[in-house]
Amino acid sequence: MDLNFSPAEEVLRAEIRAFLDAELTEEMREQARLTVGVFAERPLAQAWQERLHSRGWAAPNWPREHGGPGWTPLERYIFEKECARAGAPTLPFMSLKLLGPVLIHFGSAAQQQRYLPAILSGEDFWAQGFSEPGSGSDLASLRTRAVREGGHYRVNGSKIWTTHAQFANWMFLLVRTGTEGKPQTGITFLLLDMKTPGLTVKPIITMSGEHEVNQCFFDNVRIPVANRVGDENQGWTVAKYLLEFERGGVYSPRLRGMLRKVKKIASAEQDGWGATIRENARFKHKIAEAEIAISAIEFTERRIISQLSAGGPVGDATASMLKLKGSETMQFVTELALEALGLYAAPDQRPALDRGSNTPSIGPHYGVTVTARYLNTRAATVYGGSSEVQRNILARVALGL
Ligand SMILES: Cc1cc2nc3c(=O)[nH]c(=O)nc-3n(C[C@H](O)[C@H](O)[C@H](O)COP(=O)(O)OP(=O)(O)OC[C@H]3O[C@@H](n4cnc5c(N)ncnc54)[C@H](O)[C@@H]3O)c2cc1C
Repeated sequence: MDLNFSPAEEVLRAEIRAFLDAELTEEMREQARLTVGVFAERPLAQAWQERLHSRGWAAPNWPREHGGPGWTPLERYIFEKECARAGAPTLPFMSLKLLGPVLIHFGSAAQQQRYLPAILSGEDFWAQGFSEPGSGSDLASLRTRAVREGGHYRVNGSKIWTTHAQFANWMFLLVRTGTEGKPQTGITFLLLDMKTPGLTVKPIITMSGEHEVNQCFFDNVRIPVANRVGDENQGWTVAKYLLEFERGGVYSPRLRGMLRKVKKIASAEQDGWGATIRENARFKHKIAEAEIAISAIEFTERRIISQLSAGGPVGDATASMLKLKGSETMQFVTELALEALGLYAAPDQRPALDRGSNTPSIGPHYGVTVTARYLNTRAATVYGGSSEVQRNILARVALGL
């Protein structure tokens, strides 16, 4: 496989690099380094999105006519790679990567005009209300009920694990509007203004100590029929389209950054016998294992890009393989960071580190987030389709079982 870029792609890469050098401030990089969760939190994300938007790069996967850069899959990849290399904040993808393409594909002209510009600028920030208590992997079993009353739907029920709902002013959600036939046929896709009476958002604090997810309760929440995307009971088609964007993704650039950090820790930390952790043969072996896994992921990503560039669909098996290996390698690399840091990774070191009283062997940054990131990354094999679900797809599609 030829991983080199063409001269034209190298020009774009240089342009992106120059932009990042000029626009990504040291303060933003620092905040991004200290981010534990999957996405940058709202103030940082908003500040960075504004800069990207001013360059026309806030939504790399949108077509030009809707305000995107109109990049090819490989150009998008180059952008992701450069952002990861520079340590740019990871923008939440609910609005830009998931809802945007859905509105471009299924939204009415009025919906596109109303929502797309505010998504690009970051003025509107969206949460994804799909999962419910009891409906995650088996999403089609969702029970949040919407009953049509004239020009509105009256919604009752609950959504859970709603990422950054505490920051969102809008939510896209799936509701049950029909109970006849297959569960998939009675689902509708709605857009909800989070200020609507009857909606309550309650935090869920995860074991890493982050407020990243929430549970949302709907008590007779009224949503105008005009806020429906697609037809009533056709929401599953819309959701399936959206989920393709959720599952696809690029892992290798960020994984390489994470592994660089592990090496930095392992080079600074001593093993107690005068050597660094990095020099330990067992640890070296693990680093090599991670390098190989990341390279295999990078080749898979490039294979997917070739398939997309040739206009072909990305097979379910390839996307599942990438999600499975990407998320599991992410967990492995955070385990290595924990191992390299040894006893200093103990969670009760955190408050001391946060106060700035670092021990000489722990650098000012890397010790602070290692344990929290390790804990936070446990969720990576659950969200976006769990590892078990991906293995089921692989067994069916790739192995024909
Ligand atoms: C950090 C985080 C952020 C999230 N953000 C959002 C969000 O913003 N919006 C949103 O809508 N949802 C969000 N989710 C929810 C996520 O999509 C679900 O957690 C996921 O789909 C799994 O569903 P579940 O939690 O109900 O687990 P379940 O589906 O109940 O699964 C429980 C266990 O059973 C296994 N399992 C389930 N079915 C099968 C099967 N058929 N065969 C074998 N094993 C199976 C699973 O792999 C898992 O180990 C988030 C989740 C997390 C952890």
